[in-house]
Amino acid sequence: MTVDHRTTETQGRVRFGAGLRHDIADEVARLGAGQALVLSTPHQSESALEIAERLGPAAVGVFCRAAMHTPVEITEEAVSHTRETGADCLVSVGGGSTTGLGKAIALRTDLPHIVIPTTYAGSEATPILGQTENGVKTTLTDARVLPQVILYDPELVTSLPVKMTVTSALNAMAHAAEALYAKDRTAATDSLATDGLRAFADGLPRVLQSPEDTGAREETLRGARACGTVLGQVGMALHHKLCHTLGGAFDLPHADTHAVILPHAISYNAEAAADDLRPICEIFGGSEPGAALHRFAAGMNAPLALRDLGLREADLDHAADLATRRPYPNPRPVTCSDIRALLQAAWAGGAPDQ
Ligand code: NAD
Repeated sequence: MTVDHRTTETQGRVRFGAGLRHDIADEVARLGAGQALVLSTPHQSESALEIAERLGPAAVGVFCRAAMHTPVEITEEAVSHTRETGADCLVSVGGGSTTGLGKAIALRTDLPHIVIPTTYAGSEATPILGQTENGVKTTLTDARVLPQVILYDPELVTSLPVKMTVTSALNAMAHAAEALYAKDRTAATDSLATDGLRAFADGLPRVLQSPEDTGAREETLRGARACGTVLGQVGMALHHKLCHTLGGAFDLPHADTHAVILPHAISYNAEAAADDLRPICEIFGGSEPGAALHRFAAGMNAPLALRDLGLREADLDHAADLATRRPYPNPRPVTCSDIRALLQAAWAGGAPDQ
């Protein structure tokens, strides 16, 4: 088992290793807690129950109703449940949806939070929390939502279906790709972003060859860690704006949308940020970073077309309008007609036009 302990001012205790979830009772005790509430989605209730069983008397219950985009009404129920059970600590087992619920409860209760991530989304590494109320998603940044402990256990990621493995990886890679041209990037964030991209370039094909390979899964989790960390450190641009718009207005699936948009958004910025994006060509091959990412995604059988995610061609005008209503930083100026062309190409699913 490889275990890695790291502590920085903004990030708590971070460990990697196959089987680490079995240390959960020690981790709860280490926080001075002894009444953990375990969180998951309905789909991962078995994993939550396994953790609760492992905790024995140090678990006060499980709450298995985490949902995509952290609906506030579910958070409020979970907060009531947390108070009723007298929980003194939260343990999230799952992807970004479960981690989001844990962050939302931690924000409202100040309870310490342990996350055991099972996708590559990277939410556990950021001080960002997106929440949905009455169909409107808002995002806040607050250090209080950073978890105290993160246990990356690759054994739990082996059950992530292959298709979700690929889309979740591309979701993580998108954080790193946009970090490369972020206005507020530093040498340290560049290095994190390239480490994250390299880990997926190497690890993802190995995972697809052998989804049960915990070594390859750990490599991709380390990539997710790097990509998530960099997401929390610099501002994102066109890619994230487009995904946020498409997810919010047309209810498109989160990770799939990132997978489809990434090559097109990067290609859009390829000329304006040619030097910044060079690491993508070095890592994935070729001379155009958007095309390089499209080839990589196609090779991993990722979804490539917005039309396959359920977006109607008739919605593209509205999507372009929504995505360009408010200005935001981006290497290449963002105009409605250029974004309309980008969305058309992403809708059809071919390699990006520059
Ligand atoms: P998810 O957490 O919604 O998971 C999708 C489905 O896959 C769920 O049913 C889940 O239970 C299941 N699943 C997860 N891991 C599994 C595993 N190992 N085996 C089997 N099934 C598994 O998906 P996600 O893409 O990880 O998270 C998306 C959410 O996270 C969105 O709401 C997004 O906005 C948010 N997010 C937030 C941040 C942030 O910094 N705040 C960053 C990235 C994503």
